[in-house]
Amino acid sequence: MVQVIDTHAHLDELEDLRPALTKATEAGVVAVIAVGSNHQSNQKVMRIAADYPGLVYPAIGLHPWELGNMKSNDIDVTLKFIEEKISKIVAIGEIGLDYDKRVIKVAPKEVQKDILKRILALARQYTKPISIHSRYAWRDAFDMVKEAGLEKVAFHWFTGFSTVLKDILESGYLISATPAAEYHQEHRRAIKETPLDKLLLETDCPVIYGRENKYRSQPADVVKSLRASAALKGTDEFVLGRQTTLNAGQFFGL
Ligand SMILES: [Zn+2]
Repeated sequence: MVQVIDTHAHLDELEDLRPALTKATEAGVVAVIAVGSNHQSNQKVMRIAADYPGLVYPAIGLHPWELGNMKSNDIDVTLKFIEEKISKIVAIGEIGLDYDKRVIKVAPKEVQKDILKRILALARQYTKPISIHSRYAWRDAFDMVKEAGLEKVAFHWFTGFSTVLKDILESGYLISATPAAEYHQEHRRAIKETPLDKLLLETDCPVIYGRENKYRSQPADVVKSLRASAALKGTDEFVLGRQTTLNAGQFFGL
């Protein structure tokens, strides 16, 4: 069985966590990076990681989708908690920018950038890897992490332009592949253009995937990311599994 790591999972949003993790382990998942989205979610992530030592590793952050509902004090509380837990987490995430028009309507670009800048300063100060969301904001997200002087950056579920991807790869940053690698044109192109040593696998569960047959994902579905990526790259699944697991281990310091 190929050993794989789900490097970006919203375990706090899963309904039946224990059976989902059992199923994942049976499918070859040897580690899951649980990412947080807001203060409440971050607290839950810390509890889940404590419940599954050696399997679930915590990353906590502040997702750009959350910003529209937050007051400046809520943001301060969230960032303070991240800093308090910094020695117990393997990465800061999920964080990022999202320039979808529905998002910028409630959280304008400048607001998103100001907050991201504060979080990136924390990542830099404590040399933490980050898992970054960059939908329609690929160039700005890249420029900001570069300017913050970060070395370990994973552009999760990357679907951006080849020109940005080239800069990402040249900077030693990584991208991660989701089960959308089975059908999503832009994501497939990005995976094709990324060398094996710069690739991670993930599910972003419980995201719903599929075109005709839709399903709610869980960590075991990282095997779909593996198979689709291996097919795209014309690589053996075992080779891709071994390399991406090695990449994740090094990236998160597992
Ligand atoms: Zn996510």
